[in-house]
Amino acid sequence: MKQDIINKEEENENTSLNFIEEIIDNDIKEGVNNGRVHTRFPPEPNGYLHIGHAKSICLNFGLADRFNGHCNLRFDDTNPSKEEQEYVDAIKEDISWLGFKWHQEHYASDYFDQLYAWAIKLIKEGKAYIDEQPQEEISKQRTTPTEPGIESPYRNRPVEESLKIFEEMKNGVHADGSKILRAKIDMNSPNMHMRDPIMYRIMHAHHHRTGDKWNIYPMYDFAHGQSDYIEKITHSVCTLEFENHRPLYEWFLDQIADGDRPKQREFARLNLSYTVMSKRKLLELVEKDLVNGWDDPRMPTISGLRRRGYTPESIRNFANTIGVAKRENIIDLAVLEHCVREDLNKTAPRIMAVVDPVKLIIDNYSDDKSEMLIAENNPENENSGSREMPFSKVLYIEREDFMEDAPKKFFRLTLGKEVRLKNAYIIKGESIVKDNDGNITEIHCTYDPDSKSGSGTEASKRKVKGTLHWVSAKHAVKFKTNLYDRLFSNADPAGKKDGSDFKDYINPDSLKVLDNCYAEPSVLEAKPEDRFQFQRIGYFCVDKDSTKDNLIFNRTVTLKDSWSKQKKK
Ligand code: ATP
Ligand code: MG
Repeated sequence: MKQDIINKEEENENTSLNFIEEIIDNDIKEGVNNGRVHTRFPPEPNGYLHIGHAKSICLNFGLADRFNGHCNLRFDDTNPSKEEQEYVDAIKEDISWLGFKWHQEHYASDYFDQLYAWAIKLIKEGKAYIDEQPQEEISKQRTTPTEPGIESPYRNRPVEESLKIFEEMKNGVHADGSKILRAKIDMNSPNMHMRDPIMYRIMHAHHHRTGDKWNIYPMYDFAHGQSDYIEKITHSVCTLEFENHRPLYEWFLDQIADGDRPKQREFARLNLSYTVMSKRKLLELVEKDLVNGWDDPRMPTISGLRRRGYTPESIRNFANTIGVAKRENIIDLAVLEHCVREDLNKTAPRIMAVVDPVKLIIDNYSDDKSEMLIAENNPENENSGSREMPFSKVLYIEREDFMEDAPKKFFRLTLGKEVRLKNAYIIKGESIVKDNDGNITEIHCTYDPDSKSGSGTEASKRKVKGTLHWVSAKHAVKFKTNLYDRLFSNADPAGKKDGSDFKDYINPDSLKVLDNCYAEPSVLEAKPEDRFQFQRIGYFCVDKDSTKDNLIFNRTVTLKDSWSKQKKK
């Protein structure tokens, strides 16, 4: 009986639908497209995917999953001047890494012959014509939404003429920009996209798949809906900026489709604070060497987040957390950080590492002794087990964990006071050694041999304020760490209306490199992309360029969670 109730509750949770899911649910009930659900994710291979694309991926693949349908991966490769195979490969790697499997892999360029045939059909029916005016003239003639447009002098040219020129354009006879094919729709429509939109442009460019076969390429609007139709997509989900394109999407389908046809639906794109989210801007950062490539861990790209130590689960959870909305807003970067912290807290093994070391010498511990102490791998996960870590007379602790003239509430190490070394002993600060510049080079202490953690003695149960992490100097492994911070110092670097450029807001302190860090020897086993919690410091992952002789860790995120504090307010 009790079990029944629990199942009901779970069911309820799973059946709460976002607005796109409600639309699809309705379509299924009404038997639209025989109740089939087929979505697609349609990236243009002109850059690496970013976290905004991840939202669209989670949505499209999630819909297919939820309604027992399919999701295609389609490369929207209709603009050869910006597209490359490198991007195609990276996009596939990122989607797979996120944990999704596409049903079919397609390329809009595979449909170029069909699109060309449809264009000819439209010309023959008097619904498309070749215009020879310069682009500026065409734009000017569209006027404004509240005024009637001006018809092109070529609008009513004979069909035969348009057909002949269109073929010449295809064969490479005409120069880039000299002619275009336009749909003949309505120069007075309040929707500017309906004022005789461009269908094809001339481009003598090498295409990453079709090579030099084509000298003309279809515009997005003449390729997208048709590609959806060819693939029998049922729900074509895109971001809000395409809402105004929907009548045109429908108009083109009216000309060519019979039977099942796709429906376009729009949702709000993801905007994230303290970053930029357009491939064009991200490319600029890469090309101007303002970051170290597309997968720089400060980039909002999926490959950057991966290198930073984000998990696929954390990104999928993020997409779920923010949901799908009809209106645009800016999501706080702290929400994303919260999601990765939550996941890593459950999954990342704990280790001890000191990033800014100072020597701690235990005067009453014998010089040549060392012992192995037991440490839990992850207190949040019962099955994670424990490991041994070496302890000896000379240790490293964090420089900021000692203060010579400490205020009362400094619960770390100072002279004459006790603290616990985690998983080890209680120690007391005794003296310090400084160099000529006044920097502390050694801290001397004494330890209580009966206070070993977990030994069960009275001394081990003694409560002292403050626990420090440490590593044994002679056993420690040296490494380098990249401490990353936000790439921009302004919450909305690209949204300024004051004429400033988004690059003006790059945070000069977004990367701090520390190269004299020490970790317990267990890290020698770590492989690139392995993730850890450095106790008391944060979450870190092994960089992809890291080797045993040159160990590099990237900081994913600090331990502090500013977002949940905000939520509680
Ligand atoms: P960008 O402006 O970053 O270049 P785009 O929209 O041109 O992005 P596409 O490759 O055309 O990039 O996008 C593929 C799919 O991802 C589209 O369906 C698009 O709507 C969606 N998408 C792109 N950016 C976002 C975003 N910030 N949030 C949600 N979905 C997005
Ligand atoms: Mg695009």
